[in-house]
Amino acid sequence: MKIFTMCMECQKELGHPSFEPIITDYYEEALAFIECSRGHKSAVLLQSQKFEILLESAANALIEGYTLEAASSLSSAYERFFEFAINVFCKKNKIPKKSIDETFKQVAKQSERQIGAFLFLHLLIFGRHYTLNKKIPELRNKVIHQGYIPTPNEVIDLGELIYQEILAITNLLSSELLNELQQVTMETVQGRNEKIPTDIPRATTTGTIFFSLGTTNRKETFQEALSSYTESREKLYGSMPYLRFFSKAVEIYAKLKKNI
Ligand SMILES: [Zn+2]
Repeated sequence: MKIFTMCMECQKELGHPSFEPIITDYYEEALAFIECSRGHKSAVLLQSQKFEILLESAANALIEGYTLEAASSLSSAYERFFEFAINVFCKKNKIPKKSIDETFKQVAKQSERQIGAFLFLHLLIFGRHYTLNKKIPELRNKVIHQGYIPTPNEVIDLGELIYQEILAITNLLSSELLNELQQVTMETVQGRNEKIPTDIPRATTTGTIFFSLGTTNRKETFQEALSSYTESREKLYGSMPYLRFFSKAVEIYAKLKKNI
């Protein structure tokens, strides 16, 4: 996975951004370790939940034409979203993270068990049932199993169903359990922060832009989110030469200032 960032240590030193664009990789831990051209080493910590990262991964794969990978990421995002919702529900009852983790371990390998846990926790907390979209497993099984390579339109159809389910439940969590949702996000950030060596400076970013829990301005459909994300991606890559130019200008200005 890739993230665009700038060096925060340069910003602290210069009092303004260095404009040096840095595109760097991150993996399971959602931590990126960077080194800028001035030699600052630092870590960038993503605030995003796993399902948000997987949704963005699906969008990237789809834009680049890797439909099988896009469908697979969508399917994983759907599963990881239920894990996130279960965590939020458990926070409502003040269940310690250790107990949640111990329980989750026992359902971790079977997504049907996780969905079952979600449905009953939803019933318990809201006093009403939640009806899952029955079309998702049907389409998901067709696309995911037996190495079937879907067309872009088939991925978009699957993406739309999964996106609608995630959006509906996210809106519910944001309006009814916002405090608990924020606590889960905070715990994720704390857990990642502890994995960074103590002597390395760090900065936190909201992370993904395809879907973000950190905004209330979420796109209504998968298609809209995909168009908006494609546009942002193009703008970002288009701005690279200008950012490199500004970065060079900042460097020259800093040297001149030093010599005055
Ligand atoms: Zn720097």
